[in-house]
Amino acid sequence: MKTFTHYYLLLFIVVVSCNQKDTQKIDFLLLNATIVDVKNDMTLENQYIAIKGDSIFETGPMDEKPEFDSKESMDLQGKYAMPGLWDNHVHFRGGEELIAENKDLLSLFPRFGITTVRDAGGDMAPAVLEWQEKIVNKELVGPYIFTSGPKLDGPNPAWAGSIKIENMQDINNALDSLASLDVDYVKIYDGSLNEENFYAIIEATEKRGMKVTGHMPMSADFKKAVSLGMDGSEHMYYIMKGSSPKADSLTKLGLGYGMMETITDTYDEEMAKELFTELAQKEVYITPTLYIGKVLSQLADEDHSSDSLLNQIGVGIQKTYEGRVKSAIRAKSSGSQMREKVSTLAKSMIRPMFDAGVPILAGSDGGPYNSFVYPGESLWGELFSLTEAGLSPAEALKTSMIYGPAFFGMESQFGSLEKGKVADIIILNENPLEDIQHLRSLEQVILKGKLN
Ligand SMILES: [Zn+2]
Repeated sequence: MKTFTHYYLLLFIVVVSCNQKDTQKIDFLLLNATIVDVKNDMTLENQYIAIKGDSIFETGPMDEKPEFDSKESMDLQGKYAMPGLWDNHVHFRGGEELIAENKDLLSLFPRFGITTVRDAGGDMAPAVLEWQEKIVNKELVGPYIFTSGPKLDGPNPAWAGSIKIENMQDINNALDSLASLDVDYVKIYDGSLNEENFYAIIEATEKRGMKVTGHMPMSADFKKAVSLGMDGSEHMYYIMKGSSPKADSLTKLGLGYGMMETITDTYDEEMAKELFTELAQKEVYITPTLYIGKVLSQLADEDHSSDSLLNQIGVGIQKTYEGRVKSAIRAKSSGSQMREKVSTLAKSMIRPMFDAGVPILAGSDGGPYNSFVYPGESLWGELFSLTEAGLSPAEALKTSMIYGPAFFGMESQFGSLEKGKVADIIILNENPLEDIQHLRSLEQVILKGKLN
């Protein structure tokens, strides 16, 4: 009898310790997934994805799946699992009275599979930082927000809430205050910033090890900005200027953006090629914002009143759309073809830029004042535009969730569904690598391990 008891006790201990060794406790288990590997433009069938907390604990083929003790599981039945999308250029803005309306739009991003946004400056930094924290703590549904905080501009800023820069002291104070806000990068704007202060901001951020991107005063030289350490450039105007032999003589005339028609007319492919090589070598991130370019260039003729997302936008934000509509009508009656020309040329530059190795960022520029460029949907619009400009679906997706994290040096945490990476996962019914339009088959979104 005694021997038997010992035998059973021993067996029991062996079984328990085996269990402890083999059965990992996890939070969420996805079964029979087809993993979309954007980087290598391929899919991996019959995979499991084990999630623990905010991150991916392990992935592997179903037939090698160990036993897990999982709180929740979901059989994907072959559906596609892909890293969440990044919108690398959005805005939260419009003053105190629009804080709530901006906040209301946060949940629209994950509805379109966007799990991270890069906020390119506004006038509600404290609110944005508060949302950022709440989203991390899962008290608020929205994408993770990387933010620049307020923009730096000249003495008469184009946008409310910007920090005015007139001299070196202003620059140091501004960067001190941005550092104390713990922003993720610095955004420059060119409402009234002069070229000396523009260059000085780049040098100062470089010295402090802060990332800097944004607009450039049209009086400045793009190549000089790059040589001083500019980390990125928003929109295509400035690389266009850097690719025209007329740039210097037009600068002397002090035309501002008035020079853009001539710049596009004199665009030189060889100059552009040299510039792209340099941008690739120096790892300068270019955010083309093609989609908003298209929307704004058609603004005078397009009727947006029955847009499906318009009723999701608060009345206060809808009101901010009027300004651009008016200026589009003005531009049309004056015969300006600036936007159309910039749009057409921008589209033709994408393929050569990508081939030269320039890290391109998909960004929508969605936000108040940017008429009818809706949160979420507009990033799809940007990805569709990038494929229309000649990128493959995988290449276009790369500009969203691979180069996005790379801008912040965070590629080890995002961009693929692998062990140790953040569990921002979107589930699609159809393969997005076959056709970028398959983003429309989005079914579910997992934000930092949590199904939404
Ligand atoms: Zn913007």
